[in-house]
Amino acid sequence: MARYTASVCKLCRRERMKLFLKGAKCESMKCPVERKPYPPGEHGRGRIRESEYLIQLREKQKARRIYGVLEKQFRNMYAAANSEAGITGEILLRMLEQRIDNVVFRANFAASRNQARQFVRHGHVLVNGKRVTIPSYQVRKEDVITLGDKAKKNIVVRHNLDTIDRAIPQWLEVNADAFQVTVRDMPLREQIDVPVREQLIVELYSK
Ligand code: SF4
Repeated sequence: MARYTASVCKLCRRERMKLFLKGAKCESMKCPVERKPYPPGEHGRGRIRESEYLIQLREKQKARRIYGVLEKQFRNMYAAANSEAGITGEILLRMLEQRIDNVVFRANFAASRNQARQFVRHGHVLVNGKRVTIPSYQVRKEDVITLGDKAKKNIVVRHNLDTIDRAIPQWLEVNADAFQVTVRDMPLREQIDVPVREQLIVELYSK
């Protein structure tokens, strides 16, 4: 499967904001956004004319990069969100939040969504007792997500649980001692704290 392998910090610099893609480094002064708060490349510090299209495009790219979703998959998600009754932008964000890799990240088992994705791909995550290895798997209400026996002993997972103090969203209930997270409800828009204006994404794809 295709995936982005270049420096993820460049993605943050391109969006001119921290997207928190690297775990502990993001909170430190080593974060390149702190030192070089302008887009990468030769013309990074030049003036850019911000057209309506560019603003919409950047918003879409930001959402894609935060959740680590490739363009084709993101467009498919948009199509699925658009076919449902309700506010398309909110449904799209909800679908991104319900990804199993995002839930593992939100539960503080992983330092970043990238790391959470790796845990899923390597078979360390179970949903209702069954192993799930697809990071885009959508969790549902009352699903119980647990880590496998090997992951429970993993020093990285234990370190994450001991050191990460991100607030757990209300729609999830985490039992850190049991390495377990329960989906209490579907996420509401106000519970999704990503800095994305989803309406601009809808406008971009509606052109
Ligand atoms: Fe983004 Fe984190 Fe890299 Fe900073 S350290 S640029 S927040 S991924």
